[in-house]
Amino acid sequence: MQKMFSVDKFNTVQTPFYYYDTQLLRKTLKTIQEESGKYPNFHVHYAVKANANPKVLRIISQHELGADCVSGGEIKAALEAGFPSDGIVYAGVGKSDWEIKLGIENDIQCFNVESTAELDVIASLAKEVGKVARVAFRINPNIGAHTHANITTGLAENKFGIAMQDMVPVIEHAKTLDSIKVVGLHFHIGSQILDMGDFKALCNRINELQAQLAQNNIYVDNINVGGGLGVSYDNPDRELIPDFKSYFKTYATHLRLRDGQQVHFELGRAVVAQCGSLITRLLYVKQGTYKQFAIVDAGMTDLIRPALYQALHKIQNISSNEPAETYDVVGPICESSDVFAKAIDLNKCHRGDLIAIRSAGAYGEIMASSYNCRPLPKGYISEDFK
Ligand code: PLP
Repeated sequence: MQKMFSVDKFNTVQTPFYYYDTQLLRKTLKTIQEESGKYPNFHVHYAVKANANPKVLRIISQHELGADCVSGGEIKAALEAGFPSDGIVYAGVGKSDWEIKLGIENDIQCFNVESTAELDVIASLAKEVGKVARVAFRINPNIGAHTHANITTGLAENKFGIAMQDMVPVIEHAKTLDSIKVVGLHFHIGSQILDMGDFKALCNRINELQAQLAQNNIYVDNINVGGGLGVSYDNPDRELIPDFKSYFKTYATHLRLRDGQQVHFELGRAVVAQCGSLITRLLYVKQGTYKQFAIVDAGMTDLIRPALYQALHKIQNISSNEPAETYDVVGPICESSDVFAKAIDLNKCHRGDLIAIRSAGAYGEIMASSYNCRPLPKGYISEDFK
């Protein structure tokens, strides 16, 4: 395992930091291109929210992916990284006027619209500058996904999307707006989904909705199925590259498309999670009343997933080869939830050891905060250590 990391070189930079293995990232991107490329009408957009580190974004932009953005800041980051504006799709329940204007100015591919109120604002802002904005309607398909409640987005109780029963009237209304062009439907049922049955359920729902729209003589050119493909957190080395083959095949098999219809994907986690690790230094080993704590210099401010989603990342002591002992791995933040893992085995820990928290490339660095007045962690790519 240690071979994956250049421990000596890591000693030259301040911990904690994010480390991105660009060889793995490139291999993952190539696999996405190969597997989605089997279906000429499939188009993949990278969900920038997963990781917007400029160096990582630039590599992704060089692999013919579009970008899926959820804020004006993400649109700017995507453009700066070299994503073409006509490959940018923009979702979000609360788009501010300046963000909408930015999308219109840059002629982005599509706004994924989440309410009639938003549609009307986009229409008037586009009209002001004499442009036509392309929109897809994000439909809430009322489908549960077998994942954590905080990352389920496609249930009727969630804030996302337009309810199915409102779909036809909203589209009819959009057709009356001359600064709007309806180009598609958009869906996203959640994240970290490993059961292909959930994606199949989405396909079936989309088929039903398309049939319903056809009865109303409504046909759209694009179906955006969102993202959501999960990764192996407990054993990343067993599946460093997620099963994109089955993922795309599920959609190719179950989605009933009309002639010429294009399918769009918004993958985030599956693209970047496995290439990233949070590297932290062991500060103290503390013997508690019942357990032994490995106190590291990274905290929930650097990687919030364990505290927010009870996520379990694989953790390794990359400095030690000594027989394993059992530790709770905790950070320095003044919160009891600042715990990375409980009762896990690590090679015997000593002050100064480097600890790798794996599968941290998605929703890691990007979600870091400066709570407790902590500096934000830096992100390095493998080339930075050559
Ligand atoms: N698309 C939308 C609308 C999302 O909300 C998200 C994540 O929350 C994604 C795509 C990316 O999801 P994932 O990282 O699970 O692929």
